[in-house]
Amino acid sequence: MTHRLGVLGWPVAHSRSPAMHNAALAALGLRGWRYQALPVPPELFAETTRALPDAGFRGANVTIPHKHAALALADSASASARAIGAANTLTFAPGGAIAAENTDAPGLLAAIGEPLKGRRALVLGAGGSARAAVWALHEAGAADVAVWNRTRSRAEALAAELGARALAAPEPADVLVNCTAVGLRPADDELAQLGLFHDLLCEYALVVDLVYRGSETQLIGAARVGGARTLDGLDVLVAQGALSLESWTGRPAPLQTMRLAVRAR
Ligand code: NAP
Repeated sequence: MTHRLGVLGWPVAHSRSPAMHNAALAALGLRGWRYQALPVPPELFAETTRALPDAGFRGANVTIPHKHAALALADSASASARAIGAANTLTFAPGGAIAAENTDAPGLLAAIGEPLKGRRALVLGAGGSARAAVWALHEAGAADVAVWNRTRSRAEALAAELGARALAAPEPADVLVNCTAVGLRPADDELAQLGLFHDLLCEYALVVDLVYRGSETQLIGAARVGGARTLDGLDVLVAQGALSLESWTGRPAPLQTMRLAVRAR
């Protein structure tokens, strides 16, 4: 019997999740399991997702632009997915019931892998992944979570809802997490788009960039040169994917296999 998994997105052809999960399933010896890209436009998201259990799917990851819709569609949702307002992992029960989870938040903390209690954090961005990061940093006991965003009103709204501090400009902190789309496409002014400059980057002990692309982002390059510990978007992708895989299969995720697979291209 084949157990199907996939990632729902639009577009989703660029996703490294199929390579990562299929390598993990092979390493676990789960021969009947397959993971595939599921390109689905927003107007077809609900009906397509509802049809997945009958087509042999056990679960699915959800990416841009469907994370809010996934939460709205689910029959049940974890407290964290409800608080964040988005789901990136769906699990289908044998009868077709859909359970929603958010592994972006615990995945970020797992990728960081060091205590954050009492530390000061700065999140750049005010979209879906910024919401997950702010929620996760609070959960981990950060003493202060500040948010900066290009459109300040969005940072203020996010900060008010999730108990963070909205900033007019980035300021020093122990941990910096970039949750904007800056860096997806290489540009000369990536740091400036983030309101950052080299001297300020020396103020962060840990810098996490959720963005990943074929080459290093300016943020990761400059932070590394400035002496920070750095994590890129692939480190975080592996960590959130591992949590999804474990919830579908009940098996410990083969992290090293997954790390190699996402960087293999
Ligand atoms: P989103 O909801 O669309 O939010 C995009 C954010 O980027 C907004 O805050 C937006 O600011 C900001 N932004 C876009 N272009 C900008 C620019 N030129 N200058 C400054 N800010 C800019 O997206 P999301 O879901 O939060 O995802 C954000 C990024 O994280 C994406 O690149 C995504 O690929 C990545 N991501 C990675 C993982 C992973 O596992 N590695 C997981 C989730 C997301 P405004 O409000 O001003 O428009």
